Amino acid sequence: MSTALSYYFNEEHESFRKTIRQFLEAEAIPHIDQWELDGKIPREFWKKFGEMGYFGLCYPESLGGSGLDFFYDVVMLEEISKIFSGGFAITAAVQVFMSTPYIFHHGSDYLKENYLKPAIAGDKIGCIGITEPGAGSDAANIQMRARKEGDHYVLNGSKTFITNGIYGQFVILVCKTNPDAGAAGVSLLVVDLDSPGISKNKLRKLGWHSSDTAELHFDDVKVPAKNLLGEEGKGFYYLMGGLQLERLAGSIMGYSGCDAVLGYSLQYMSERSAFGRTINKFQVLRHRVAQLSAEIESVRFFVLHTCRMHADGKYAVKESSMAKLLSTELADKATYQCLQFFGGYGYMEEYKVARAFRDSRIGTIGGGSSEIMREIIAKMVIDDTNYERAESQTEESKPALETVADIFETLPARFKSEKSAGKNLNVHFQFTSDNYTVSIADGKLTVDKGLQGDANCLVETDDETYIAVETGKMNPQEAFMTGKIKVSDLMQMMAFGGLFKKL
Ligand SMILES: Cc1cc2nc3c(=O)[nH]c(=O)nc-3n(C[C@H](O)[C@H](O)[C@H](O)COP(=O)(O)OP(=O)(O)OC[C@H]3O[C@@H](n4cnc5c(N)ncnc54)[C@H](O)[C@@H]3O)c2cc1C
Repeated sequence: MSTALSYYFNEEHESFRKTIRQFLEAEAIPHIDQWELDGKIPREFWKKFGEMGYFGLCYPESLGGSGLDFFYDVVMLEEISKIFSGGFAITAAVQVFMSTPYIFHHGSDYLKENYLKPAIAGDKIGCIGITEPGAGSDAANIQMRARKEGDHYVLNGSKTFITNGIYGQFVILVCKTNPDAGAAGVSLLVVDLDSPGISKNKLRKLGWHSSDTAELHFDDVKVPAKNLLGEEGKGFYYLMGGLQLERLAGSIMGYSGCDAVLGYSLQYMSERSAFGRTINKFQVLRHRVAQLSAEIESVRFFVLHTCRMHADGKYAVKESSMAKLLSTELADKATYQCLQFFGGYGYMEEYKVARAFRDSRIGTIGGGSSEIMREIIAKMVIDDTNYERAESQTEESKPALETVADIFETLPARFKSEKSAGKNLNVHFQFTSDNYTVSIADGKLTVDKGLQGDANCLVETDDETYIAVETGKMNPQEAFMTGKIKVSDLMQMMAFGGLFKKL
């Protein structure tokens, strides 16, 4: 089905594609049905997968990886998503795209040595523990507590829906080290899944049968303090960065899985006859195939474009969210429609389309649901919320912005009065040096020194942080998540921020 992919994949990528396909044909495909029945994939298989280098394609050689570019990972994920077992694909995807990157980006040498290297080698399987029984989409509301006691943390709480949680060896656990600090009290710990005090319950589910999905309970579990990833209190910020890659991975799995299902359907349609001709001659079915092909191809190229942005180091929040939304929604629609091409046979286990149909359903839920993707996109498109660094400017074109007062002087010129119709806001800013009140009423902006009137929102920070954020030297999310900027009402602040052009 693939056409003209050379924009993104070169000859080496394509020859790597052949190698991994051969590996999957020899080592995985003959066993998939059994693994789906068993509800697990044997450890020995993942060891072989690691030995082939597939867990560490883009990690540096010093860690046991191959130091290749991101499009090798894309090829790997495309190929493992085409073998009609979402459970198989997600097991590897969690390892490569959703858990080990946190150790690579934020882990100490100790954590890299003891968790990342063994994961790349296929000796350890990792997972990511964000979701809790009471906190899924609303991840900032997690209750898992990590209390510091001397040289270790003590964990109490529960996680649920954790992929690889039963048979995996470690979890990147999202927990609260400071429950009073909101998002700025969240930290990430690497936790051995065989630690005393952890109990596990394997969950039964609609699809992804060959993957394990766990409910994990932590009862006074002791974890060495050296297992903290990065800095205490920065976990939510690390997570927000990591989720872009997770969403991109979900997008690749989405379009690639669809592509395989459509190819499988075309084969069936060319063999199945009704009313004296093969069913691929019925116009209504041909048009449905044409429509799906067009949509899969369009989504594939948009996702690959987003992969290119990611590979180039761009923080592509909007594109990754759009890619995840479109690709997983399409996968759901495509598998539904393809099953219809098979008539009653599509409903039978012997036909792989049945498994693809139930496996695709999770795409629009896990890793940020479609509703949450639309929320993020809406904030960026409608409210001008900016999750990226400010656009770069040449040194000469930059106004001198050395003090908070310099920045406040630019506010009138940046004010989008046309967007402010019907909005009444009074925002107080408390800096180290001075205080300001910015009021917006009836499309008019007023900037005053001092704190005037009742505020809808109070922003507290030091001069240095505010200047760094406004001039694009610090990511606003990082400032917020790490508590460097405190905002009393985030929604009001986002509405306020959307009324000004970037510096
Ligand atoms: C098979 C499987 C594997 C998973 N693997 C992992 C894993 O490895 N690690 C992990 O941490 N988690 C994992 N998850 C959890 C998954 O990421 C969550 O299920 C998902 O984030 C949604 O959370 P929730 O289930 O609590 O739904 P809720 O957050 O309770 O949402 C319920 C519904 O409300 C909607 N909703 C919520 N908030 C809003 C809003 N603001 N606006 C509009 N609609 C909204 C949602 O979109 C959804 O439709 C997995 C889940 C499954 C089913």
